[in-house]
Amino acid sequence: MAAVENGDRTTRADLVITGCTALVHGEDGRIDFADDAAVVVRGGVVDAVTTAAAVADLPATERIDGSGQVAMPGLVNCHTHSPMVALRGIAEDMPVEEWFNDWIWPIESNLTDSVVELGALLACAEMIRGGVTTFADHYFAMDKVAAAVTHSGLRANLGWAYFSGQGTEGRERSLDFALSANGSADGRITTSLAPHAPYTVDDEDLAATAELAREHGLPVHLHAAENKAQTDHSLERYGRTPIEVLERAGLLDTDLLIAHGTGITGRDLPVLRRATGRVAVATAPRGYLKFGWDTTPVRALAGLGVPVGLATDGAASNNTLDVWESMTLTVLVQKSTERDPAWLTARQALDHATAQSARAVGLGDRIGALAPGRRADVILVDLTGPHTRPVHDVAATLVHSARSSDVRTTVVDGKVLMRDRRLLTLDVPAVAAELDRELPALIRRRDGRRIQEYNA
Ligand SMILES: [Zn+2]
Repeated sequence: MAAVENGDRTTRADLVITGCTALVHGEDGRIDFADDAAVVVRGGVVDAVTTAAAVADLPATERIDGSGQVAMPGLVNCHTHSPMVALRGIAEDMPVEEWFNDWIWPIESNLTDSVVELGALLACAEMIRGGVTTFADHYFAMDKVAAAVTHSGLRANLGWAYFSGQGTEGRERSLDFALSANGSADGRITTSLAPHAPYTVDDEDLAATAELAREHGLPVHLHAAENKAQTDHSLERYGRTPIEVLERAGLLDTDLLIAHGTGITGRDLPVLRRATGRVAVATAPRGYLKFGWDTTPVRALAGLGVPVGLATDGAASNNTLDVWESMTLTVLVQKSTERDPAWLTARQALDHATAQSARAVGLGDRIGALAPGRRADVILVDLTGPHTRPVHDVAATLVHSARSSDVRTTVVDGKVLMRDRRLLTLDVPAVAAELDRELPALIRRRDGRRIQEYNA
């Protein structure tokens, strides 16, 4: 069992979770489990991870009995487009060109602020129910997403997306939003610059983005090398892979979150190795399986020390915002791709889900571990169900047997957002009904109207 902290045993705590098994990180970062543990929260921060006995008499404003449950850091959805829940299941069983050009981008020409906010609220509800406490979002009308995040109680890193086709206006709006929203929602919202991808944002715009990122100390979040075909086309057209395009633009010298990277090739590895910025990759395996793509080269990236965070992408391609499922799929797809049953163990998967995902969204020192001083973003996972009994190895049970629906309680910044499966900040039937009323106008496709063309 890893060392646990004793903390302050007399001052009233805001929240005490007791009697649980706690997922803790040892000094070397190794994941361990502390039995009969307690988590003490004061001022939105984890004050101590200690024994249940140590807090038996501790006065607390709120107490949660965690018997039979695992307390662990909340999951992080490292790449999504939360309002796209409005398009869940609308375009299935087709290649990505058709998906973008005939469905998603025509429909997105009808987006309204109201659809974005309602979609984001529904997405927040889904994520809280699935044990997600932080998400990195990449979309339009992000002031409305910020409002949803503020209301829901979640933590998020938000980026207002842009294409070069919008002229300089898109990039400027992304910067304005990143500067004005950073630190809002009591510090729960951080921001990124969000160019869409190297195939929709030209070299000049990418270089200007890198410059702005350095000038303002902002991270950058974008799609790149989404699949092998994009890498092949980039090589044919420009003689450079998408990763080399990013390097040339100076983006690998910024804090960069790359979504997908399933098209990252062997020649990209030395490029990533010499990056001076904090470069990370988000993997969302369900969508790759659906589109028939390869997957993110997690093993090669691990060899470079590049963190790989877990993600779902938007629900229009992934159908769910279930990061728990992404964790399980990542393990299975990695074993299959590498033809190695020993690669990507359950403990490694939990490291991706916690510490690596936190680093990927630029919050490596604030979240991602149950440790004194970290923000109190905690979930409780019930392992008493028939599908999770008996428990021989907690890590294996979490990754291979438990499901997102086993998350009973979700806490962000010490505030309980879901208790015993009941959402405390959001009214799903009301949000879903309001969104339903907006859908007929949203999904109408008119000849030739689309926000962008996919030709990558
Ligand atoms: Zn995406």
